[in-house]
Amino acid sequence: MNFLEEKIMEDGKINPGNVLKVDNFLNHQIDIDIMRQIAYEFKRRFKGKEVNKVLTIEASGIAIATMLADLYDVPVVFAKKSQTVNSTDDKYVGQAYSFTHKQMNNVFVSRPYLSASDKVLIVDDFLADGEAASALIDIVRQAGGTVTGIGIAIEKGQQKGGKKLREAGFHVESIAIIDDMDYETQNITFRH
Ligand code: 5GP
Repeated sequence: MNFLEEKIMEDGKINPGNVLKVDNFLNHQIDIDIMRQIAYEFKRRFKGKEVNKVLTIEASGIAIATMLADLYDVPVVFAKKSQTVNSTDDKYVGQAYSFTHKQMNNVFVSRPYLSASDKVLIVDDFLADGEAASALIDIVRQAGGTVTGIGIAIEKGQQKGGKKLREAGFHVESIAIIDDMDYETQNITFRH
C-alpha cells in the first residue's frame, strides 16, 4: 500500500451511497504532510511534462494544487462554483453535475487567468464520474490552452470518470484507486 492508501485505511470512513469521507486529512482538516507527499508524487509521475499553471476547483482541490504549484513555481487557478458580485471579469463557464450535492453546477474561471499559451495540469481531490474534471478540461479548451495531465488524489475506480478520461487520451494519474468499498464491512479494495 502506498502512503495515501494507508492513510485512507487508517482515517477514511465509508458512508452510504458510495461516498468516502476523508474529512480529517483532505476535505475539512488538511494534513500537510499528506498534501506534500501527494504533490511530490504528482511531480514524479508527470516528470518531463511542461506545466505553467495548475488548475483545480474549489474547495478541496486548492490545498493539493497549491502544494504542487509550489514545486513547479507556477500559479494556481481555481474554478469557482458561484459568481461573486465583486468579479466583473468575463468568464469561461463549464458545467458539472455534482456527485456530492446531486445537482448541476456552473463553474467559472475569469478570462484573465487562462490563455492559449497555458500548459495546464489539472488536479482534484476525487475522481468519480469525471464531471468536475470534464468541466475544467472544457474551460482550458475555451481558453485555447493545453491540458498537460490530470492528477487525482483518490479515484473511485467503480465510477466511470477514469475510464472516460483515459479513453479520451488524457494522461490521468491517481495516487489511490479504489476498486471496491463496502459500507457494511468498511472494507476497501485498491487497484494495483
Ligand atoms: P466527479 O465530478 O468526478 O463525478 O466527482 C468528483 C467530485 O465530487 C470531487 O471534486 C469531490 O469533491 C466530489 N466527490 C465525489 N465522490 C466523492 C467521495 O466519495 N467523497 C468525497 N469526499 N468527495 C467526493
